[in-house]
Formats: sequence, C-alpha cells, structure tokens
Amino acid sequence: FIRKANEHDTLKVVGQLAAGIAHEIRNPMTSLKGFIQLLEPNLREHQKMYFEVINSELKRVETIMTEFLMLAKPKKSVFSKINLKYVIQETIEIMKPQATLHDLEIMYETLDGECHVFGDANRLKQVFINLIKNAIEATPAKGNIQVGMSRKASGIMVSVSDSGCGIPKGKLEKLKEPFFTTKENGTGLGLPVSLNIIAEHHGTVDVKSELNKGTIFDICLPALQ
Ligand code: ADP
Ligand code: MG
Repeated sequence: FIRKANEHDTLKVVGQLAAGIAHEIRNPMTSLKGFIQLLEPNLREHQKMYFEVINSELKRVETIMTEFLMLAKPKKSVFSKINLKYVIQETIEIMKPQATLHDLEIMYETLDGECHVFGDANRLKQVFINLIKNAIEATPAKGNIQVGMSRKASGIMVSVSDSGCGIPKGKLEKLKEPFFTTKENGTGLGLPVSLNIIAEHHGTVDVKSELNKGTIFDICLPALQ
C-alpha cells in the first residue's frame, strides 16, 4: 500500500491546483447555505420537498469539499506523545450512534498497559472514524464490527474488521485512488485521506478481504517507549 514517489508528487501538484478551486467554491457555498435557510419559513407545501433536496445536495457538496481539502491540502499535523488507547476509545464513542442506527454493535478489545505513539491524535481519530464508517456501511444489520489492538515487533496494531460485503480482489488496488467509490453517496476520499495520514505517521496499512465474508484493515504504528 505504499505509493510510488512519482504518483505522490503528481497527486500533490494536481491537489494544490484543485485545492485552490475547492476553496473558491466553499465561499459561495456558505452564502447559498445561509440564504436558502431564510426561504424555509415561507415555503408552500409542495416546495418543501425541493427545499430538502437542495439542502441535502448542498450538504453533499460540502462533505466532498471538506474531504477533498483534507486530502489535497492537509493541515500540518501536530505530533506529540499520545496514548493510542484513548484515541481508539474516543473514536468508538463518536461512532457508536451511527452503528446503533444501522443495528450494529462495535466490539472493542483493548490492550493492557500504555500504548504510546508519536502522532497527531485528531488526524489519527479521522483515520479510525473513516475505517469504522466504512465497516458500518459495508455490514448488514446485526453483523459484527470489531476494533482490536495488539502489540507487534513493528509497533502497535489496530485492527478494524467487519462481517460485511467484502472487497473483490481486483478492486483492492483501487482503494488508494481518490474518488474510487462503490456507494451512491460515497466520495471515495476516506481511504486516500487515511492512507496519507498513516504514511505521515510512518505506519503501515494492510487489507484482507473476502467477498461476502468481511474485511480487515490492520493499521500498524511505531510504538513509543
Ligand atoms: P467512500 O466510503 O466514500 O466510498 P472510501 O475511500 O472510504 O470512500 O472507500 C472507498 C471504497 O472502498 C468504498 O466505496 C467501498 O467500495 C470500499 N470499502 C472500503 N472499506 C470497505 C469495507 N470495510 N468493506 C467493504 N468495502 C469497503
Ligand atoms: Mg468511506
């Protein structure tokens, strides 16, 4: 899952260009969102549905812009000594309501002792939010989503696994490509953003998947004493 240097550079140049445009789009979006709200109280019954569609489409553009900017123009990470256990615990708290909504439970197994890594807690949280969100979206109701931690020679491993639809072998390589999505409302940006964040932390990502059985994402981060 390591990107070749030249691919990375191309993405950087294209990204900088597109990030400029994304910023320009964001400003008119803000005023659109503001002014549409003013119309809401005066809508006739048949117009309310149009209003909902406009609103949800605006939200969608905003999500794409936010995720895209995270990829193309990431904020500088602020590294410090952090306990990965707390990052995972907080992420699970954030994702619990979404899991419940899909009639899924997130099982969590932690490690004894400290799990220190040198990293940016917020950026790492973003990674695990993206992985758990994908797991939720891939798994039918009553399925399993598990988040586990283990110690490896190369560091601390966090595994996010699900009993969902799985990823076809031929599609595994596509996961790192921006905009690859199989979802009607997907952006295809969650994994590319996550891979960049893990690379920045000198970590590794390993994916194992079996069609109609499930998927495991193993993230390994260098441990800090
Ligand atoms: P998005 O979720 O917006 O589609 P991502 O970059 O997060 O974008 O994921 C890209 C694609 O990878 C998804 O559309 C899906 O096809 C596949 N994928 C990611 N995680 C999983 C998973 N846990 N199970 C099955 N497919 C997955
Ligand atoms: Mg996603």
